[in-house]
Amino acid sequence: MNKKLFVLSGSSGVGKGTVLKGFLEKNPDFMLSISCTTRPPRPGEIDGVNYFFISKNEFENCIKENKFLEWAEFAGNFYGTKKKYINQCLEEGKNVILEIDTQGALQVKKQMPEAVLIFVCPPSYEALENRLRGRHTEDEATIQKRLEQVKKEIERSKKFDYQIVNDRLEDAISRLEDVVNGEIKNA
Ligand code: 5GP
Repeated sequence: MNKKLFVLSGSSGVGKGTVLKGFLEKNPDFMLSISCTTRPPRPGEIDGVNYFFISKNEFENCIKENKFLEWAEFAGNFYGTKKKYINQCLEEGKNVILEIDTQGALQVKKQMPEAVLIFVCPPSYEALENRLRGRHTEDEATIQKRLEQVKKEIERSKKFDYQIVNDRLEDAISRLEDVVNGEIKNA
């Protein structure tokens, strides 16, 4: 059976990480890609688990050497997915999921049109803002930057293959499973 690349995006604070975590617990055979980023680790984040935390200089070298499948600047930091890692997983016969921003997702689609793009939406904008503030991990200026991104992301998400509303976590996980299983059956 063909192996697929799934790309999950969503506005900051929409809870896509939690949806994805729930999905991966139920579907452990999926590989989650680990991105590189220049942003500092948040408390509890581990290098090589949550991200590869690298310097801006290292990141720029990877861009020059064409090592990224996609990369994007997001809220003042750089994020990117290494080509080598994704290709290895697909060659080993694993389905892969990327959790990246919408700019990156559209770059992936250009290079790999068979990739399936899934956007996780909040039930409402107010719910999203409350969630972002409730996280207490960013200062006000960072939160404002992230809220500005939200509008851009919603616009880009119109080009996605699927939209999943994260109202109740369990329902959102089931919707993600339905989308993924449907795509795999049709592969
Ligand atoms: P955070 O700083 O909250 O972990 O992530 C900020 C944003 O960057 C999120 O929307 C996340 O999905 C996105 N992101 C994480 N890794 C990558 C990546 O490799 N490429 C791109 N384009 N975005 C990423």
